[in-house]
Amino acid sequence: MGTHFITDDCIACGACESVCPVNVISAGDPIYVIDTEGCIECGACDEICPVDAIKWDTTAA
Ligand code: SF4
Ligand code: SF4
Repeated sequence: MGTHFITDDCIACGACESVCPVNVISAGDPIYVIDTEGCIECGACDEICPVDAIKWDTTAA
């Protein structure tokens, strides 16, 4: 299990924020950010992102 994060490719469209069932995605500066503490790793944000900016860091503990 890795860490879910948003890369610089994010265009701040807000789509991920609206689909997150636990509301852990919020608008940051300049890109959106995921509060990984609350993320249930459902994958919904990953599927909806139009620019594939949401990644899983499988190297993280
Ligand atoms: S994987 Fe699911 S719970 Fe985690 S940030 Fe994305 S939409 Fe939210
Ligand atoms: S769906 Fe993708 S491009 Fe849109 S705000 Fe989320 S991470 Fe950024």
